[in-house]
Amino acid sequence: MTEIPAPTGECFCGCGSDARPGNYFRQGHDKKAEGDLNALYHGDRVVQRLVDRGYGPGGHNLHQAAIDVGVREACGVVEGCPASGRPGSAELRRHRATHTRPAGS
Ligand SMILES: [Zn+2]
Ligand SMILES: [Zn+2]
Repeated sequence: MTEIPAPTGECFCGCGSDARPGNYFRQGHDKKAEGDLNALYHGDRVVQRLVDRGYGPGGHNLHQAAIDVGVREACGVVEGCPASGRPGSAELRRHRATHTRPAGS
């Protein structure tokens, strides 16, 4: 992956707008950029994006690949739980907390 530069105060979608200090994008432009990239390079379909990279039926397991590389962390609290999140994220902590509740009885 190309190393990305620090935020410059200009929106990284290239629109020329200002971005708030510390942000790469003017509000909402990250989503637009993602959609445009998808449209430009992957036929506007997530499934195309997956297949282009060798994931999907008969291919790699995307979820497992993300965990193997370390960009996602598996729940790990309950064996076989399919949940995962960004390593150390609040979302993942919240999810793990759901396992500590008594599961019926
Ligand atoms: Zn922009
Ligand atoms: Zn879990």
